[in-house]
Amino acid sequence: MKTQVAIVGGGPGGVASAISLANKGIQSVIIEKDQFPRFHIGESMTGECGGLVRKLGLETEMLQRQYPVKHGVRVYGQSSENTFWIPVMKRSDEGELEETTTWQVRRSDFDKMLLDKAKSLGVPIINGKATGVIQANDSTVTGVEVRLENGEVEMIESEMVIDASGQATFLSNIGVAGNKDRGKYDRQLALYAHVTGAQRDEVDNTLIFYEKKNHWGWFIPIDDETVSIGIVAPTDYYKSYGETPEEFFKRKLHSFHPEITRRVANLESIGEVHASSNYSYHIKEFTGKGFICVGDSHRFIDPIFSFGVHFSITEGMMAADAIEAYLADGQGREAENPFAELQSHFELGQDSIEDLVDCFWGNPFAFTFFAHQRYREDIIDLFAGRVYQKNPSPGLAALRTVNAQIAEQNMTVSAD
Ligand SMILES: Cc1cc2nc3c(=O)[nH]c(=O)nc-3n(C[C@H](O)[C@H](O)[C@H](O)COP(=O)(O)OP(=O)(O)OC[C@H]3O[C@@H](n4cnc5c(N)ncnc54)[C@H](O)[C@@H]3O)c2cc1C
Repeated sequence: MKTQVAIVGGGPGGVASAISLANKGIQSVIIEKDQFPRFHIGESMTGECGGLVRKLGLETEMLQRQYPVKHGVRVYGQSSENTFWIPVMKRSDEGELEETTTWQVRRSDFDKMLLDKAKSLGVPIINGKATGVIQANDSTVTGVEVRLENGEVEMIESEMVIDASGQATFLSNIGVAGNKDRGKYDRQLALYAHVTGAQRDEVDNTLIFYEKKNHWGWFIPIDDETVSIGIVAPTDYYKSYGETPEEFFKRKLHSFHPEITRRVANLESIGEVHASSNYSYHIKEFTGKGFICVGDSHRFIDPIFSFGVHFSITEGMMAADAIEAYLADGQGREAENPFAELQSHFELGQDSIEDLVDCFWGNPFAFTFFAHQRYREDIIDLFAGRVYQKNPSPGLAALRTVNAQIAEQNMTVSAD
């Protein structure tokens, strides 16, 4: 089989790439190992992500599904009184902040909707697992080897490969992209389930609960009846209890934060308890001759502020733009890495969010002061996902200063 772009993974990153390529008249195929619908975590969207979903032509489908509308995120500190609120806001053409909304979604349904959209644009979906790549003598990636569901192997020749395999990090695992370095939040365990009968607020926003450093939880309504609840803690802390994931999750639901406890007093059902562990990592070389990694396939930061789907969709769309230029005029074909600039651009956005999250954990008091008072607009921009400015806003610069001070203090303590 031959195509212009072979895409590994049919999640949001892969499908955003395929839809954007199709809109440019560029042929692609998606290789997906799972049958959809399938369970996936990652249910709360940023404001800009909602805008991108509209841009991909999916607003009508989204409205038909009646996903809960998100107006913002409320973060509860250790007590119920100690909270901060970040509204979802967009920038007008004049640069003014304006209210807008985004969504919270059931990912099994949302991801299938995305994949169906790609199919409707003529993108073939190959049910199978990518197991290797085809490479030219100079190691340019020129296609993908796929093990189909019937056990046969199919070689798909392509001019470009997009890795959108999520946490499977396909191209890094086979040594084409760089090594996977542990992130700062890699010894964490997240346990989560879909519940019914939870007490919801009048408006269904995303709620985050802070217990203590690196211990947190979420409450995300995903349809009329169902709420996604997650509890995150360091893996060693979880192990110290010697409980099963279900036991730990259910016990914590009623003890970990007063704002969760009161909402789960009369639950009707708790679905399967899922787990994600060791989930933060960073692959620094993730583009090269013939390939680009998007979304989780190259980097994953602590998910507390819900940026995963945003990055996967944004990067998928940006990858399509870069591939269009590359295929049209061979832009950068002679360079060692034709996509070096794109790689730096992806890192610029992800670095900003890692700095935001680091400051939240490192100095929650400074963070809350910045978010509520000193740099409110800049923090609203970051939460919305406006993270690709070359010159950092004063708010982002302040977060970085706090992080640098914490790093310096830690160095002094370890030197002592
Ligand atoms: C605890 C937790 C909470 C989170 N909460 C949020 C949140 O509230 N909001 C948010 O935006 N994000 C959240 N995320 C992040 C979000 O889940 C991911 O960032 C997002 O799903 C990434 O999209 P993707 O397209 O890159 O990868 P995925 O959605 O993982 O899709 C990758 C696809 O590739 C397929 N695949 C993998 N390997 C192969 C292969 N070899 N061959 C063929 N197919 C393959 C997989 O089957 C999968 O369908 C959370 C993550 C965690 C762990």
